[in-house]
Amino acid sequence: MNAQSQIAPPTGMLAELTHRCPLGCPYCSNPLELERAADELDTQTWKRVFSEAAEAGVLHVHLSGGEPCARRDIVELTAHCAAVGLYTNLITSAVGLTRPLFDALVAAGLDHVQLSIQDAEPASADRIAGYDGAFARKREVAAWTTQAGLPLTVNAVMHRANISRAARMVDMAVELGARRIEVAHTQYYGWAMKNRAALMPTREATEKAVADVEALRRKYQGRIVIDHVVPDYHARFPKACMNGWGRRTLNVTPSGKVLPCHAAETIPGLEFWNVREHSIGAAWYDSPAFNAFRGTAWMKEPCVSCERKEIDFGGCRCQALALTGDARNADPICHLSPHHARVQKIAAEEAPAIAPDYIYRRLKAKA
Ligand code: SF4
Ligand code: SF4
Repeated sequence: MNAQSQIAPPTGMLAELTHRCPLGCPYCSNPLELERAADELDTQTWKRVFSEAAEAGVLHVHLSGGEPCARRDIVELTAHCAAVGLYTNLITSAVGLTRPLFDALVAAGLDHVQLSIQDAEPASADRIAGYDGAFARKREVAAWTTQAGLPLTVNAVMHRANISRAARMVDMAVELGARRIEVAHTQYYGWAMKNRAALMPTREATEKAVADVEALRRKYQGRIVIDHVVPDYHARFPKACMNGWGRRTLNVTPSGKVLPCHAAETIPGLEFWNVREHSIGAAWYDSPAFNAFRGTAWMKEPCVSCERKEIDFGGCRCQALALTGDARNADPICHLSPHHARVQKIAAEEAPAIAPDYIYRRLKAKA
């Protein structure tokens, strides 16, 4: 039996078209080593990648970054995705997206817009983003999206500076006409790990925010879908990170590396294939990085004998590495992990009375 008959095809792809971004969010999920503009794939290569993804079974592509609209060919790439039958979701900061560009994207066949909001308070939102005027731009782009009849999803990352306004951010998403909001509490790796002391909320603030958002889920039932990702450091079980490594989605970086998740490069020793040398299908089925943590054969105890191993797949490999030193360990968010006490200690300790300044993520794109 060859590998392809045992492994399900990918259904989703995150295309990080560029790491350039006008904003500087201190929890950005991009790697600390941002990829330079000079290393980005050219237009023809991205088009080939999208065609290969569609052939491999991918149904929806997230055009992301950085800020994807920093790419001059964003309209051409969107049109190509539509032509090969991919559902396109533009994940944007809104900054750098003009009305003519937005209209051109809609004409090219854009299907969906996903907009990040940093806070419900304008001044705080702009401080978190590291960009004056970002909040106002987001409201504008949300209005264009709903006027064009496109579905809008709002992303809200929760942390110390905005967690007391979690409910107001949900109200704001409803007011903007979003069909869905993802309320995600900060995941601590990369830039967020660098800023952990500045971002970590207290347990009380987290518990209140969780209760407030759950109450709004009942209030807004039928009006907006609320996806609420419970904060990691206060949970008993880990999330099924990426729905399992190499099970559904893949990520292509600006320079063409094919990754099982956006933080996979933090794990030393993994061999990633690049679209410059391999097709998307080959990278999915045969690359060493995808097969390193696929399924359950790589697991150690306590995961090996756990009844949840096909539910959460042992949690996040990158978090296991960051907090235990071994990517094959159970994610220490799990209360069954022998390293779980370290997570509890961090959650209890790292909310200092005065938060340090942010270390902004920087690889600037012109707004
Ligand atoms: S800096 Fe902010 S807006 Fe830009 S890519 Fe990172 S999270 Fe998204
Ligand atoms: S022991 Fe492993 S498989 Fe079981 S719940 Fe914890 S992380 Fe998941």
